[in-house]
Amino acid sequence: MPLIFIVSGPGGVGKGTIVRDLVQRDPVLWLSRSWTTRAQRPGEPDDAYSFTSRQAFEERIESGGFLEWTEFLGNYYGTPTPEPVPGRNTVLEIEVDGARQVKALHPEAVLIFVLPPSRDEQARRLRGRGDPDDKVDQRVRKAEEEEPIGRALADHVVVNDDLERTISEMLQIIERHRRRAGQAAG
Ligand code: 5GP
Repeated sequence: MPLIFIVSGPGGVGKGTIVRDLVQRDPVLWLSRSWTTRAQRPGEPDDAYSFTSRQAFEERIESGGFLEWTEFLGNYYGTPTPEPVPGRNTVLEIEVDGARQVKALHPEAVLIFVLPPSRDEQARRLRGRGDPDDKVDQRVRKAEEEEPIGRALADHVVVNDDLERTISEMLQIIERHRRRAGQAAG
């Protein structure tokens, strides 16, 4: 069974940067691209998501084409059912409701929950992304709800106080699980 690593955590914690770094450094990792009905942010890369309409998303739900999906602050987000890539480990960067669904289907999936060093730092990072103030407030409140749920579900909790340290801690966690699963290092 190919390993699945789930990287979850509240908004503004730096998950996107973390997973981009992880897949660059570890060629065995394969990052799944999510679907979303959220509008693309100014400056956001075209391949950050498969940006899609609500209708197309709902059709894919109907046809059973998602491993998990959720509605997050008024938009749909979902992981298309992955085709296992031989020799690779799947990485999912998703919020906690999706993480809960994947753990229910695949209890062996490894959930790494990332926390911000402080609420102030998290709010600062959210503002820095160019979201309007009301959206930032919504996301901060949502993050407060998500944190206890994520901590309870997590196999590992990592505080992202320093990106370099966070990445190396996560690479060690990944390596440990590979060894446990009898898979060689990438
Ligand atoms: P954002 O709008 O900031 O890109 O994403 C909002 C939240 O949705 C983030 O916590 C992000 O990790 C999460 N997310 C992104 N893709 C997926 C997905 O496919 N499924 C789920 N459940 N959450 C996702």
